[in-house]
Amino acid sequence: MSIGTFTTRLSLVRKEVAHLPAYDPGADPDEVARVSGTPRVIKLSNNESPFGVSPAVAAAMRLRLDEGFSRYPDPTGKRLAEAIGRNLAVPVDRVVLGNGSENILELLCQAVLDPGDLVTTQAPGFSLHEIFPHMMGARVRKVPVTAEFGFDAPAWREALAEEPKLVFLANPCNPTGAMLSAAELENVVAGTPKSALLVLDEAYCEFARPDPAYPDGLAVLRGQDRPWIVLRTFSKAYGLAGIRVGYGVASDADLVQALNRVRTPYNVNQLAQEAAVAALDDHAHLADTVRRTRLEIGRVADRLREAGFRVAPSSANFLFIDTNRDSDRVTRELHRAGIIVKAWREPGYENFIRASLSTPEENDVFVRCLTEICAKGNP
Ligand SMILES: *Cc1c(COP(=O)(O)O)cnc(C)c1O
Repeated sequence: MSIGTFTTRLSLVRKEVAHLPAYDPGADPDEVARVSGTPRVIKLSNNESPFGVSPAVAAAMRLRLDEGFSRYPDPTGKRLAEAIGRNLAVPVDRVVLGNGSENILELLCQAVLDPGDLVTTQAPGFSLHEIFPHMMGARVRKVPVTAEFGFDAPAWREALAEEPKLVFLANPCNPTGAMLSAAELENVVAGTPKSALLVLDEAYCEFARPDPAYPDGLAVLRGQDRPWIVLRTFSKAYGLAGIRVGYGVASDADLVQALNRVRTPYNVNQLAQEAAVAALDDHAHLADTVRRTRLEIGRVADRLREAGFRVAPSSANFLFIDTNRDSDRVTRELHRAGIIVKAWREPGYENFIRASLSTPEENDVFVRCLTEICAKGNP
C-alpha cells in the first residue's frame, strides 16, 4: 500500500530503475471487496468521475466497435489534435497527445533529462512528477507548501535560483487540491530560468475554471519567450480515465517534435482518439459534471470540518484530509467498510488521506465511516 522500493537482484537492470519507488495506485478494489465482504466497493482513491461519460462519447465508442479495430490508429491523432488546437486557438503542430497525460510526463523526462539534472516540483505532490525524473537519473528538489497548503513564494524563489532544467507544477495541486493564483503562477514563470522547461500540469483545470481567481495556464504562458508545456487530460472531468488519453500544448513545435521522437508511434489508440473528439464536443456534459462536483466538494468539506477534521481548501474533485492519526491504519479500517482512499506517505503528511468525490450517497457513507473510525481513541 505504501510507496515501496522495488529492489531487484538482476544486475542488468539500470541502477536508477532498481531503486525506483513503485507508483502507488491505492488498494485493489477486488481485494477490498474480499476483505469487507461488500461487492459494492466505494472507490475514492484515484480522482475519477462518478458522473460517467457524455452519451456522445458512448455513441462514438459503439460506432468504433461496429467498425472494428483491425487497423492501426492514426499515429498523429490528427482529428483529435486539430479539435484541441481549434478549441484553444493554437496551431496543431504545438499539440501532443498521450496515453494519458502521465505518458506525456514520461516523454518529457525522456526527451529532456540527463543524469544529474535538477527537477523542481512541489511537496506534497504527484508522485510521477518525481518518479519519472528519477527514472532518468535526475535529482528532484521538492518545495514544501505552506502550513495552510498554499504556495510558498520565498521557498520557490530560492529553489528556482538553483537553476533546475525542468519544473513540474500542478494547478490545481494534487494532493492538496489547492489553487495557485495568477500572481503566484506568474511568480514561477518569472523565476524559472529561460533555458528550463516549465511544465504546468492542469489535470484538474476544468473543476477550478468557474472560479474567476483561477488563472488559465495557457493564457499566462502564451507569448512567453521560453520553453513551456501545459498538460490536460480526459481522465478526470471528462470521465475517461479507463480509456487513457491526455494532451499537451507546447510553446513551440520543436518541443512537440522531440516528444514525437521518443513516444511509441501508436501511443493513443483509435477508441481513445474518437472518444476524446466526442468528449470535447459535449460542453453540456462537462459543465454538468463540473457543477455537480463543485457543489458536492463544498458540501463534503463542510461536513468533514463540522466533524472536526482539518481539510485543505480544494479547487479539484478530491479532498486532502488530516485524520490526526496514522493514515495507513485509517485506510485499513476504511477497507473493512469497503471504502478505498489514498493514505498519504510523504514526510510530514503521514496523517493525511486523499479522498476523491463520488455520488452524494457514497460520500455520506465515507464521511460517516471516517468519523466513526477517527472517534476518540480509535484506531
Ligand atoms: C490524474 C493526474 C494526471 C493525469 O493522469 P492521466 O490519466 O494519465 O491523464 C496528471 N497529473 C496529475 C497531477 C494528476 O493528478
